[in-house]
Amino acid sequence: TKIMVCCGTGCTANGARQVLARLEEKLRGNKNFEVVPVLKATGCNGWCEKGPLVKIMPEDITYCQVKAEDVDEIIEKTLLRGEKIKRLLYRDPQTKEFLVSLHQTDFYRKQKKIALRNIGEIDPASIDDYIERDGYKALEKALKYMTPDEVLEEVIKSGLRGRGGGGFPTGRKWQACKKVPRFPKYIICNGDEGDPGAFMDRSIMEGDPHTIIEGMLICAYVLQAEKGFIYVRDEYDLAVKHLTQAILDARRCGFLGKNILGSSLSFDIELVRGGGAFVCGEETALIKSIEGFPGEPRDKYIFPTESGLWGQPTVINNVETWANIPVIILEGGEKFASLGTEGSKGTKVFSLVGKVVNTGLVEVPMGITLREIIYEIGGGIPNGRQFKAVQTGGPSGGCIPAQLLDLEIDFDTLTREGSMMGSGGIIVMDDTTCMVEVARYYTNFLAVESCGKCTPCREGLRALLAILTRIVKGEGKMEDLELLQEISEVMQEASLCALGRTAPNPVLSTLKYFQDEYVAHIIDRR
Ligand code: SF4
Repeated sequence: TKIMVCCGTGCTANGARQVLARLEEKLRGNKNFEVVPVLKATGCNGWCEKGPLVKIMPEDITYCQVKAEDVDEIIEKTLLRGEKIKRLLYRDPQTKEFLVSLHQTDFYRKQKKIALRNIGEIDPASIDDYIERDGYKALEKALKYMTPDEVLEEVIKSGLRGRGGGGFPTGRKWQACKKVPRFPKYIICNGDEGDPGAFMDRSIMEGDPHTIIEGMLICAYVLQAEKGFIYVRDEYDLAVKHLTQAILDARRCGFLGKNILGSSLSFDIELVRGGGAFVCGEETALIKSIEGFPGEPRDKYIFPTESGLWGQPTVINNVETWANIPVIILEGGEKFASLGTEGSKGTKVFSLVGKVVNTGLVEVPMGITLREIIYEIGGGIPNGRQFKAVQTGGPSGGCIPAQLLDLEIDFDTLTREGSMMGSGGIIVMDDTTCMVEVARYYTNFLAVESCGKCTPCREGLRALLAILTRIVKGEGKMEDLELLQEISEVMQEASLCALGRTAPNPVLSTLKYFQDEYVAHIIDRR
């Protein structure tokens, strides 16, 4: 028997470590068992709402919201007598049925796990656990049976687009870098997740660090690169801890270093902690930050694939993108491309938060509708309230109204409707939310985080914030609405980097879909 305690940041905050410690204490040398169950601390299972989660295998029983005080009963009844404890099982709110396995729940049924395939199933601090679930097999396949061009072809065939927000085709990016006849080449993993309400990358770094290393190694083989960097948001202590451990273990087992698995590939990875600026998630700012300079973006008329880190050809992808690579190589690009929509293949990980019953992390095929995510997986809006809007894509995303709930989401549909995929944040709002206040909140966030290098973004955000603040205070005028529109358009056209170009999205989308709320503030002076 294996007992897996979810020890992602969400469950840890709810007392998972105390549950784990109690289980350890009670199982150690317990004479009532012929074979003492194996205990594992895993990464985030995704359903933070119901944590701490304790999963018992092979019976596939999951207990929710477990406390340290429940441990004696779990050992006594479930582990020793094979009985289930009803009060710890999830109860379906519709059917009132007690569900034993998480996979029977609405929250998990519609999910399809590729990037998150190992999280919640392995101890992220154990390389053996990763290897047991086909870890490093894709690397072995690439090195032993495929040429670098064949590996690249497979990534292109998969149709994978960068999951960090830009949505640029990953294979094409690698190809552009491969074509540049200059060495050394560098590989970077962008783990500087800074969007409010987003924790997709954190979960992967905390829960399955080796998959990132393996993805980067496969790219290193394609580019003949020898050095990689993982840039992690400074606040992500557990991610740093697990990645550091994973790099050491990968070196010890011969997956990093010289002549990997007896091949000609030599590659190593260095961990860099971010400086705490949101703009460092932008790839050129991130590169500056690794070089030791302030994280300011530069114009991208020359892409990092040609001139990146220290002016050398560089591929930079985000955490989730890297996590898909081993699966694409192991199972083939075609299989990956069979999921999703015409322009956006595979799955996407979203952090589902806000006014929704089931909050947590979900991985779903591209093309799923917002309604399916919010109502079927998320369980709808709590406290009998009505849905009002959903904000996707982080602080620079737009707010999508109820009439677009059946939108099939992918990179292109969200952009068309004035929002964006971003890195995958979904924040649900109910009918108590003031949409002008929402626009003001995100504009304030972006005004603080703008690096200030270029005028349209720096001054534009200040001006938008001043107007929104006076409207919220009941001091706005009708002309302000035109002014908001004009400033936003200039920022979209003239800002240097994506932060400034997308920063007006919250304003523009709320003006488009919720203009009556702006007018109400102005007319009613409230
Ligand atoms: Fe800095 Fe904003 Fe200009 Fe980007 S758009 S370079 S964040 S001031």
